[in-house]
Amino acid sequence: MPELPEVEVIRRGLAPLLVGRRFLAVQVGDKRLRQQSSPQDLRRWLLGRRLESLGRRGKYLVFHLEGGATLLIHLGMTGHLLAGPIPSPPLPHVHLVFRMEGGLDLFFQDTRRFGQVLVFPPGVDPPPLAQVGAEPFSRKVTPAWLAEQARGRSRPIKNFLLDARILAGIGNIYACEILWAAGLHPATPAGRLTLPDWDRVLAETRRILKHAIRKGGTTVSDYLNSKGEAGLFQLELLAYGRAGEPCRCGATIQRLVQAGRSSFFCPVCQPLRDGNH
Ligand SMILES: [Zn+2]
Repeated sequence: MPELPEVEVIRRGLAPLLVGRRFLAVQVGDKRLRQQSSPQDLRRWLLGRRLESLGRRGKYLVFHLEGGATLLIHLGMTGHLLAGPIPSPPLPHVHLVFRMEGGLDLFFQDTRRFGQVLVFPPGVDPPPLAQVGAEPFSRKVTPAWLAEQARGRSRPIKNFLLDARILAGIGNIYACEILWAAGLHPATPAGRLTLPDWDRVLAETRRILKHAIRKGGTTVSDYLNSKGEAGLFQLELLAYGRAGEPCRCGATIQRLVQAGRSSFFCPVCQPLRDGNH
């Protein structure tokens, strides 16, 4: 599943190709995505309009259109957004094709159809963005702000990091890497972290996300960047997916299931502290 770095890499790949071009046609397949505006609405607000800028909020790509309409795209679990001529033979599971000025197609491919493609008229703040928490790189996010969000909470730090209403865009892979780098057991109650703990969590969050963006995003199963190339960061995952393998300290990385998802941690580098349970 794409996380913040992958979506940011896609944004950076697509923006120079698409910004300034008009939408000429929208082709919509028979099968709908989890959330998808009607073909009528997509055509009404997109056709003939120029793309003024391409932004990102959390894991949403935010297309700002001439005239004020907004197109939101979320890749869900298996979505790919690719720009270029449609390959021949055509790829399976292409649900939407946006034909752009200058002979460029933007197409949305999604085998599991958990993606979202939603258009909003001028003057409407897209409601899905109101649910998106703070950007990890924003100035408002400080160790003290994180401590404030976690105050009194007994839920594990791992689940706190995954809560997109607090911090946007951090999924399972990066949450595991962040906690490993910060030396915190994933089951530590979020409300028990000290200010120095939050300082390390935030510093590692920013370092790891920045590094992943620079490396072109992570590929674990199904993610491709906007050119259809796999990211390179998967070679450098130090905890995620490494159960049974040695940590840098020599101990063995272990797996734990939290809220239905796997956490990977080192029992030596990330000990449970006394009084945590
Ligand atoms: Zn270790």
